[in-house]
Amino acid sequence: MLELNNLSKRYGNLKVLEDITLNFSPGKIYGIVGENGAGKTTMFRCIAGLESHQGTISSPYLCLRNHLGYLETNPMIMSLITGWEYLKLQCISKKIGAANFEAQNIFNLPLNQYAETYSTGMKKKLAFMGVLLRKNDIIILDEPFSGVDIQSNIIITEMIEEMRRLGKTVLISSHIFSTLSDTCDEIILLSKGKVSNTAQKDGFANLELSMKQNILGNKLKKLNIQ
Ligand code: ADP
Repeated sequence: MLELNNLSKRYGNLKVLEDITLNFSPGKIYGIVGENGAGKTTMFRCIAGLESHQGTISSPYLCLRNHLGYLETNPMIMSLITGWEYLKLQCISKKIGAANFEAQNIFNLPLNQYAETYSTGMKKKLAFMGVLLRKNDIIILDEPFSGVDIQSNIIITEMIEEMRRLGKTVLISSHIFSTLSDTCDEIILLSKGKVSNTAQKDGFANLELSMKQNILGNKLKKLNIQ
């Protein structure tokens, strides 16, 4: 179990995360939603050990980082390495033997080309392949569906289902509620750095409704669209 206890984070005077206490179990998919700036990426970066923080993050592992796969929203990939070299580097850093990348090239990426020739979506897919290759137990996917085509969305959704079957703990953020409600076991709503709501599958519809009401209020009436 991955446990966050009173996780808090500040940038100077700005409180970005405030007393987040959450548990994430193996074999479950967790969706994290919230407006831009709610703190989703910061929470992920804290879990990935990339940010200092207050509070504790505990797991059954001696070194959580060695068991954690993290797909960033906009993965940084060096320009002058090929897709193939990027994947090889992922394997070397995790001390796993090089796999047959062509056989595992589920997104049909041009692995012999330099990453600088890749589009944003292609870079994301390459980074996603890297996460899969590293065979970690805890997977964080920050906006995995944004910027990639519909075919890739279908593949990524299936891969996430496979991760559940393999007993991995998966945390996903998305701006699109329906992509999470289809996939997740639990959805957590972050608002201004705090957990403002959590819902299990049978409560997703109510959560979506209350989010809609909070977001829209009487804005549509005020617009008076005709
Ligand atoms: P989300 O992923 O939910 O959109 P973020 O975690 O990226 O939100 O950002 C949360 C807040 O923290 C925002 O107000 C953002 O401007 C701020 N923030 C993020 N990173 C930094 C940083 N390195 N320095 C200062 N403020 C930051």
